[in-house]
Amino acid sequence: MMRGLFVFAALFVAVFGKETFEGHQVLRIVPKSDVQLRLIKDMEDMTEFELDFWREVSNVATPVDVRVPLHSLQSFKIHLETQGIKYSVMIKDVQVMLDEEQEKMEAAARVAKPRNTDSYDYTNYHSINDIYTFQDMLVAENPDLVSKVVIGYSFEGRPLTVLKFSTGNTKRPAIWIDTGIHAREWITPASGTWFAKKIVTDFGHDGVITGILYWMDIYLELVTNPDGYYYTHNSNRMWRKTRKPNPGSSCVGVDPNRNWSVGFGTAGSSSDPCSETYRGPSPHSESEIKSIVDFVKSQGNFKAFLSIHSYSQMLLYPYGYTNTPVKDQRELQNLARLAVGTLAFAYGTRYTYGSMFDVIYQASGTTIDWTYEQGIKYSYTFELRDTGHYGFILPANQIIPTAQETWEALKVIMDHAYKTP
Ligand SMILES: [Zn+2]
Repeated sequence: MMRGLFVFAALFVAVFGKETFEGHQVLRIVPKSDVQLRLIKDMEDMTEFELDFWREVSNVATPVDVRVPLHSLQSFKIHLETQGIKYSVMIKDVQVMLDEEQEKMEAAARVAKPRNTDSYDYTNYHSINDIYTFQDMLVAENPDLVSKVVIGYSFEGRPLTVLKFSTGNTKRPAIWIDTGIHAREWITPASGTWFAKKIVTDFGHDGVITGILYWMDIYLELVTNPDGYYYTHNSNRMWRKTRKPNPGSSCVGVDPNRNWSVGFGTAGSSSDPCSETYRGPSPHSESEIKSIVDFVKSQGNFKAFLSIHSYSQMLLYPYGYTNTPVKDQRELQNLARLAVGTLAFAYGTRYTYGSMFDVIYQASGTTIDWTYEQGIKYSYTFELRDTGHYGFILPANQIIPTAQETWEALKVIMDHAYKTP
């Protein structure tokens, strides 16, 4: 009986535990005119197709990638065709790709757990517990350089941990890097884990990193949205937002990159709790964001703030909420050019760059608009690989190349922040 129950329970989890994306397709739509752009923009508010925009609507000729569930695939394609909008199929079956990703992760997990950060598998995606273990091992191995700071707790009670790389003193000029703020962007915490190891490996050997750490601290938050990240591993791989329930709605979560106070609530975010860009009830309503806000203010000496997302290969600076240029526009633009040029040296990966408003779209309540307004001049958002072959399901064999090239660009910005008083 017990055994029967157990089998039943296991079956229940297998069938109902994880959202399936069988037959879902990701379509790539390239708006050819302002009229088409407007028509596609209107689709963001249509609920009947249950669309999930992977790359949001921005400009004419800039691709829009959208995941379409099986049940509305045919009607959505007809909808596009009747309006004369051309599309191509970017991913034929999302679940097929997710199954491959899952198999690879499970195969890697069957190998004995790493005992130290040298044997940690940087070539695979990891659960949140693996990443927490990695952090603790890194701290234990490098007690004079690395410590762990808990800046708060997530809605579900997970610690919001930040790795601090420091050679001494307090409230030094500092650099912030965060990954994983959007849950499904798995390449970002995977890259961040590699950055953490790279810092301790290069300290004392690489002139740039050694120089920076002599005068500055680096703070690295690997799993910035831990509830969301856990949820992508256990329930829904395509989850983006936080996991706080919204009173009066069956839809859960807030977009943590629309929840910041600068430009909060203006165009470029949604007031609908069911939207992927839902801004939340008030600025900093999400503890994952409020914790960073409080920490940045109390530390008081951040010089660079680098928030890492995926995908579409872009390097962006403020503002997102307005087309008014920031007063440091020229410097930020020149530094971005230098950073993406250096990034391309490694594997030839091409990035576009500019202000968020100009390059993507109007987005309000974003991280870097807030950090810039706090006086952190070098505020940038990265959108890592790719440009829309795999999108959020970037194969694990691209983790190390992605991390390596991104690190080169980060170093350019950090070095500039270090040398510019
Ligand atoms: Zn993102």
